[in-house]
Amino acid sequence: MGKVKLMLAFLSVALLAACGNDQNNEENAASENDAGIFVTTSFSILADVIDGVLGDSGEVDYLVPIGEEPHEYEPVPSDFRKVSDSSVFYTNGLGLEEWLERLIENTGETPVKSLSEGVTEIPLEGESGADPHAWLDPANIEIYAENVLADLSERFPDHKEIFAENAETYIQEINELDEWIKEQVEGIPEENRIIVVSENAFKYYGEAYDFETAGIWEINSGEEGTSGQINAIIDLVRDRDIPSLFVETTVDSRYIETVSEDTGVNIAGEVYTDAVGMDGSGAETYVDMMRHNTEVFVDGLMNQ
Ligand SMILES: [Zn+2]
Repeated sequence: MGKVKLMLAFLSVALLAACGNDQNNEENAASENDAGIFVTTSFSILADVIDGVLGDSGEVDYLVPIGEEPHEYEPVPSDFRKVSDSSVFYTNGLGLEEWLERLIENTGETPVKSLSEGVTEIPLEGESGADPHAWLDPANIEIYAENVLADLSERFPDHKEIFAENAETYIQEINELDEWIKEQVEGIPEENRIIVVSENAFKYYGEAYDFETAGIWEINSGEEGTSGQINAIIDLVRDRDIPSLFVETTVDSRYIETVSEDTGVNIAGEVYTDAVGMDGSGAETYVDMMRHNTEVFVDGLMNQ
């Protein structure tokens, strides 16, 4: 992807230079490095999608640090500044960013745009509203990328060709990921196709790749890890003879450890739901985090 992007970047500079329009001189100078576009988003996974479309034409920054979850985040003073300084603030929407109102009351004129527009919502279980974790289905990431492309192209029409090329490359990678996941999970026996984690965040993934899902709790912004919730999941794990449990990188692992200790069912590994991986984790991008999750599921659920 790097090479393609670089070639396209050169091409775009060459085209702009060839136009030789004086009033665009300042912009031409900027686009030799990048176009100086700066956008912000709520959390790291969305930043990966936006970066895929933006490429070398600009920079994207996110607010919620890797390792923290985006539901109940408390914006810090530098967040308000970042968002104020950016051309647009991209959210997930679907009620994910519970702190959005508080943020945008103090960020001036920066427009706010939800990237999940157009996805088929899956409702929360036992609570009102949609489950916000639509990004865990690659088909939805394609919609997110299309939304980024449409919005950036409207805001920065001079760069719309390069955005379109970038988006095409990114979406191609997402399609390949989708195919790869299908192949990987194919051999998991029917009775083992259930993903049990702390927060029941894998519904969209489950819908796409034929898994049931369950969590100790439904969503991080609700009640987390009450004894009633823990007892209910312990019953489920025993009744259904669940082969393995999984734990997210962005939750307190003690709850699922309690379930594991009580039932004797192993925690097969860590999975990424609400953030990409830290530097050096091997899951720093959306594609890599989804590959990692899938490998962990296959290890935990295949022939246990
Ligand atoms: Zn979550």
